[in-house]
Amino acid sequence: MFNLILFGPPGSGKGTQSEKLINKYGIKHLSTGDLLRSEITHQTALGLEAKKFMDKGQLVPDEVVIGMISSAIDQNEGVKGFLFDGFPRTSAQAEALDKLLELKNAPIALMLALEVSEEELVKRLMKRGETSGRSDDTNETIIRARITEYRNKTAAVADYYRQFDKVKIVKGEGSIEDIFNGLCNEIDARL
Ligand code: AMP
Repeated sequence: MFNLILFGPPGSGKGTQSEKLINKYGIKHLSTGDLLRSEITHQTALGLEAKKFMDKGQLVPDEVVIGMISSAIDQNEGVKGFLFDGFPRTSAQAEALDKLLELKNAPIALMLALEVSEEELVKRLMKRGETSGRSDDTNETIIRARITEYRNKTAAVADYYRQFDKVKIVKGEGSIEDIFNGLCNEIDARL
């Protein structure tokens, strides 16, 4: 198995690049944001609980997200690998993910970290809000709260993987194709 993490702040292009990466490498996309939004659409208890945090731009509690990703991994036996998008977002999630993958004998091979300036992030998210239908993309206060959560709780996750020499930084500004090529170069160097 070849497991990757696509890392970066909200609006750094993880969703767009994930679509392209899973097509090229044939791995399974697991986005905790998408999984949570699906829970909300189906009005499950987990979805209703998560929504309270998401509407404020805050992270959903670790145990909720870890349980969800654990079931998703179990439901996808036999895949070539996973592309984790928007997960892990805290050090506790990173440690839990390592334990889950240890059971499968399939550690994280690489974390690709997209780098984008904060002003560009806000601009992109406001623009995405015009069409995405996501309430957390339309309000600048919520957008800034999400970026603050990233800075306070999520950025440290890169340090966790850096100690194992698994992090590669890729420029997240420029054309979608150029960014994609930057990501593929790093993946191909590790494959
Ligand atoms: P995203 O689609 O990745 O931007 O996530 C949207 C929202 O879902 C975030 O602002 C969080 O409230 C929540 N969320 C997604 N992934 C996680 C995670 N790994 N841990 C905690 N909260 C998450």
